[in-house]
Amino acid sequence: MSDSFDLVILGGGCAGLSLTTRLAELGSTCPRVAVVESRDAYQHDRAWCFFKDPHALGPLAASVPQHSWQSMRVTTATGGVAFDCGATPYQMVHSGQFYQNAQEVIARAGQARLLLGTSVVNTAEKQNGLWQIHTSGGVLRSRYIVDTRPAKRPERGGAALWQSFYGQEIECEADVFDAACGDLMDFSAARHCGALLSFPDAVSFVYVLPTSSKRALIEFTFFGPEPLSPEALYDLQAKAVAQRVGGKAFSVVRTENGILPMGATPVAAGHDPSYVLAGLTAGGARPSSGYAFARIQRWAQACADAIASGHPPVGHAADGLVLRAMDALFLKVVRTHPQVAPDLFLALFAGADTRRVIRFLSDRGTLADYAAVVATLLPGPLLRALAAPKPLKPDRTVAFEAP
Ligand SMILES: Cc1cc2nc3c(=O)[nH]c(=O)nc-3n(C[C@H](O)[C@H](O)[C@H](O)COP(=O)(O)OP(=O)(O)OC[C@H]3O[C@@H](n4cnc5c(N)ncnc54)[C@H](O)[C@@H]3O)c2cc1C
Repeated sequence: MSDSFDLVILGGGCAGLSLTTRLAELGSTCPRVAVVESRDAYQHDRAWCFFKDPHALGPLAASVPQHSWQSMRVTTATGGVAFDCGATPYQMVHSGQFYQNAQEVIARAGQARLLLGTSVVNTAEKQNGLWQIHTSGGVLRSRYIVDTRPAKRPERGGAALWQSFYGQEIECEADVFDAACGDLMDFSAARHCGALLSFPDAVSFVYVLPTSSKRALIEFTFFGPEPLSPEALYDLQAKAVAQRVGGKAFSVVRTENGILPMGATPVAAGHDPSYVLAGLTAGGARPSSGYAFARIQRWAQACADAIASGHPPVGHAADGLVLRAMDALFLKVVRTHPQVAPDLFLALFAGADTRRVIRFLSDRGTLADYAAVVATLLPGPLLRALAAPKPLKPDRTVAFEAP
């Protein structure tokens, strides 16, 4: 195989594969593209969920199996709401199947290569207009680079808040779950497990996604000022599962965990437009939720469209001013008053038109949607939090280190 390409994508995870499959769809006009991925093989390491976005899966839409829920619940110590999301169901994408299907699409495209078991080992240099990319398999040359490797996470700081979670997909011997309705946030269950005692600075909830009456993904999640390791969450997770299955026998099918930055300053792109950063830590994650899957799909489509029309690849588009301001306010309130967060989410889903809330959460909100969200939250928990300001902890926000 030649070592020269039009585009080399560093990292073949969600962002790298999403872009490559879209380029592969171009057929004979697909550029010569290589994806450098350090994993030797893919495993089903995560479930990606999002409210249905018609553009989310691109060329994989027909083949990636999904579970979807027409209604979801938010529960706090004082109340709860099950909201109807039938118009834009909450969907789950099985990452193992996504990786498998992406590999098949890439294998069928003559111009695209996936280099598994190959790591980028050094910073790329430009010589005579071509990037030289040093990998464990040798040097690759390319006109453009899209770097999707996650930025190295500093020990502390780096984001306004951290979302840390540990989850288990379990299979019960008896019927336990209602597969028609998932728990987007069960703050009450987290409280019963004693999360507040262990991590008083953080807001925590249990996330439950039942895919049948016997099977569910149960995940203990924290939004807090410090990232939490999976080991720190293990006991709470075990309690949450025990509480949910109520003594019924179960086995753990797989586990997943993550530490996602919320409100991180995206790694700055360099000055050379032929080297583009993308993915989770380069603007892929929505600051107020850490959700990135659907945003990454929209970016992949925009980037593939730019390349198809003869332009350089593009990074993630910046969020609009209003959205950024709302997310910054939300993060500040949750960081300074974590105890208000359950009321905020409950008020949001119980008080506002769900279609507006979902559009707002899915980056598809209109100004009227933003106004409806503010009108719902401001007179209630948001005003209470703003009226009782607590000094912000010293700002530990430091920039991410580039990949
Ligand atoms: C367990 C988990 C569950 C999540 N669930 C959701 C969800 O439900 N909804 C949602 O919207 N978001 C979710 N996210 C957030 C986000 O969608 C994912 O993190 C997503 O995978 C980010 O895509 P990415 O391409 O930026 O990073 P990744 O998918 O992590 O891909 C980066 C790739 O770079 C490779 N790499 C790193 N260094 C090198 C190197 N030196 N050389 C070569 N390759 C390298 C890695 O092996 C990896 O494959 C979840 C995240 C996790 C961790």
